[in-house]
Amino acid sequence: MIALTKDYFKEIIVGLVVLVFVGYIAQVNFLLFHIGVELFSIIIAFSIFVIVINVNRAIDDDYFIFLGLAYGFIAGFDLLHTLAYKGMDIFSIQGANLATELWIASRYLEVLSLLASFLFLKKKINKNHVLLFYFTTTIMLLLSIFQWGIFPDCFITGEGLTTFKIVSEYVIVFLLLIVIALLYYHRSYFDQVMYRYLILSVLATITAELFFTLYISVFGISNIAGHLFKLLSFYFIYKAVIKQSLQRPYEALFASTMEAKEELAFKNRELEQVVYSISHDLRSPVVNIKGFSQELKVSIKNLKELVEQSSIEEEIETELNKLLEEDVEEELHYILSSTKNIDNLLKGLLKISRIDRYELNLEEIDVNEMIAELRANYQYQLQQQDINLIVQELPNCKGDRVQINQVFSNLIENAIKYSSTEAESEIIIEGWKEEERVVYTVADNGIGIAPADQDEIFVIFNRLGNQDDAGEGLGLSLVKKIIDRHHGDIWVESELGEGSKFFIALPK
Ligand code: ADP
Repeated sequence: MIALTKDYFKEIIVGLVVLVFVGYIAQVNFLLFHIGVELFSIIIAFSIFVIVINVNRAIDDDYFIFLGLAYGFIAGFDLLHTLAYKGMDIFSIQGANLATELWIASRYLEVLSLLASFLFLKKKINKNHVLLFYFTTTIMLLLSIFQWGIFPDCFITGEGLTTFKIVSEYVIVFLLLIVIALLYYHRSYFDQVMYRYLILSVLATITAELFFTLYISVFGISNIAGHLFKLLSFYFIYKAVIKQSLQRPYEALFASTMEAKEELAFKNRELEQVVYSISHDLRSPVVNIKGFSQELKVSIKNLKELVEQSSIEEEIETELNKLLEEDVEEELHYILSSTKNIDNLLKGLLKISRIDRYELNLEEIDVNEMIAELRANYQYQLQQQDINLIVQELPNCKGDRVQINQVFSNLIENAIKYSSTEAESEIIIEGWKEEERVVYTVADNGIGIAPADQDEIFVIFNRLGNQDDAGEGLGLSLVKKIIDRHHGDIWVESELGEGSKFFIALPK
């Protein structure tokens, strides 16, 4: 049986209170009770139908699609049954026969649909064929009840229920028992909770049917009990179909998204580890090449002095000097500048892969003070290139001091590097507070970035246009990574030749 967890317990208590309340209403005003109970099941059945019609892509289960479609038509019959009920006076036909006929038609449709649903446990369904089948069946049944009058009588005033009605209830009960057996046989197909609700629903229907066989008067106690069990049965169907078949795919989808996210994060960490180890290990041979090239430079200088002091033939001396001063010197220069580039790249890669390992130390930062220090660091370049750095009053922000310093340092460095060679250069740093964030801008009137390239510049190793400027294409990817780690945002507004304005937003 269902384990009585806190939730189930709560549900049972609420259910009992509702049943007692509804039972009380039945005593006071039976018609109101009947309409309420029937409408509840009709609304549930229609809801299942509407959901299955509209969002069946989320329900990857033909069994439930079939049941959902069938319940739409069952709801239709139940609605007619409610409208035809004694006392409603909607149809001109008097007495309880019409409502009872519609009732029994609806119950046959329900139990036969439950039985047929097992055909679609592993088979694909054609929604249109099912709809057409139910539509035709409904029309035929309605005609036989309303028009042709060939549907067997179910209630005769003065006599009560007909044999057909009573036998039908037993037949329906028998078929429902088969449904339970089939559910049990196919139990591995269902989710455990869903399986239990389906069984409960069928059991409630069986109990309802048994009460209806005892039915003496339209307003009698067995009729009330029967309707209450019908209410329960639809409630369980609702729990089984709506909760399990709709929530489950979304939960599964959510779980697989989370799984993919975790896997991605794991792969990312793995990749960062590889980048870190490779750049770390490559640095020592590079440092060696750099060091030995310097030594080679010294050795060549010594060699040159030796050549000068030696008494070798003049022709050979000139040849040797040319080799040492021009060729070897030039080659060494290339080796040294290339190793410097490689070294810078490796240092940058190390820096980037360290960002995630580095524990953020969040604190209130006085950005005015930080920029004042950076101005001092860049004073030489600013003066050399005659760049005017204007800093407005800036709000404080919350972040890791070292990393936020790297952000501003990179942005200022770029603004200097890509400043205009023609116009008078200017860099303006501004900042303001918004409701939930602090925004800073670093704007220059330099070479600018074409809108199409603006996403590219944040990608590692991506450099644009003027490749003469020193750089590895690492700065902005580092900046972006830092801002991401701070749950902030970075973007640029720029036009080619019209300067660039970099925005950084940090949560308050
Ligand atoms: P780097 O400057 O080392 O090339 P970055 O990642 O800092 O690498 O920048 C990537 C590219 O973005 C640069 O190569 C440059 O083309 C462009 N860029 C960055 N900042 C600016 C700027 N202020 N003005 C114009 N272009 C810029």
